Amino acid sequence: MSHELQDLLHNNRRWADETEAREPGFFSRLLKQQTPQYLWIGCADSRVPANELVDLLPGELFVHRNVANVVVHSDLNCLSVMQFAVDQLKVQHIIIVGHSNCGGVMAALQDKRVGLVDNWLRHVQDVRNAHQDWLDGIAEDKRVNALCELNVLEQARNACHTTVVQDAWARGQGVAVHGWVYGLHNGLLKDLSITAASADEVHPAYRRALSALKQRYA
Ligand SMILES: [Zn+2]
Repeated sequence: MSHELQDLLHNNRRWADETEAREPGFFSRLLKQQTPQYLWIGCADSRVPANELVDLLPGELFVHRNVANVVVHSDLNCLSVMQFAVDQLKVQHIIIVGHSNCGGVMAALQDKRVGLVDNWLRHVQDVRNAHQDWLDGIAEDKRVNALCELNVLEQARNACHTTVVQDAWARGQGVAVHGWVYGLHNGLLKDLSITAASADEVHPAYRRALSALKQRYA
């Protein structure tokens, strides 16, 4: 095995030993159950590691990541994660997390051909196209981050419209959808205030968050 991979296994052993020393019985307790309160749907980018950013331990955060944190109604992978998180784990919060300077969003914005992922990023281009006039009016150096934030709003709204969330709300289950953006430059998460905890709240929350976003970039 290469030295690099041996380093990873060595790091892992040290981490497991330190974790167990700090909290004896940590792993045997986790073996019995996981009871995370949060589902994180974020970008696959290595600079946005979900648990670390919010300082949560194994067992505390259910995570789904893909390129550009997209929630598509026909993506069985994302929907399966959402359904398990909502129906079985009964998470109370679903957080769609985008990040500044997202490579996927940048490629979508600039029609860059990267490869297979171009097809996936069509979903982000749909977002771009729906708001093309507004984006055209934004200074070029700010346009990528404007689309990163806009994409979070659209994907959060998509999450609200999934059968998983709609059904949970219909049966009175308490689950809220949120949209956040992470700043690669400062390590800080920002709430984009699109929080919705019932079907009635989705449209007003989206309108409010969109107008706040437009003001920030005006
Ligand atoms: Zn990204």
